[in-house]
Amino acid sequence: MKEDCIFCKIANGIIPSYTLYEDDDFRVIFDLGPVSKGHALILPKEHYANIYELDEEIASKVFVLAKKMATAMTEAFGCDGFNILQNNNEAGGQTVFHFHMHLVPRYEGDGAIKFGKAGEAVEEKLKELEEKVKEVLNSK
Ligand code: 5GP
Ligand code: ZN
Repeated sequence: MKEDCIFCKIANGIIPSYTLYEDDDFRVIFDLGPVSKGHALILPKEHYANIYELDEEIASKVFVLAKKMATAMTEAFGCDGFNILQNNNEAGGQTVFHFHMHLVPRYEGDGAIKFGKAGEAVEEKLKELEEKVKEVLNSK
């Protein structure tokens, strides 16, 4: 646990929260600034700042839990769709630097989350980017 981390304190029950789900590894809570009705967060109990630091076993468990929660929340709230998203670093929109996954129930026409204007996929650029990623993957 990291001393000055608010999500460490919430995940480990030091600060009380409405808890939708809890097990040995995770606590699922409601977001304090919901973008839609029922917006929740999956918090690992261990501190990892972001996806780069995340333990692989926790990483494999987190999406299984996201599926379980999305299914239960969809039935409970009667939402029409669902977004699962996860921000990393300031440039990625992260504001609390303890890994978390957003569970966002969506309702027809709510406009809760929108991506920016779509760019254009340029063939040569894609080839160059593909090669760069493969180079890194193959070096591991
Ligand atoms: P991020 O932008 O880092 O992906 O998301 C941080 C989220 O945490 C935001 O949606 C924000 O509303 C929520 N949040 C920030 N502080 C607290 C808090 O103390 N309690 C809860 N439940 N949510 C918080
Ligand atoms: Zn933390």
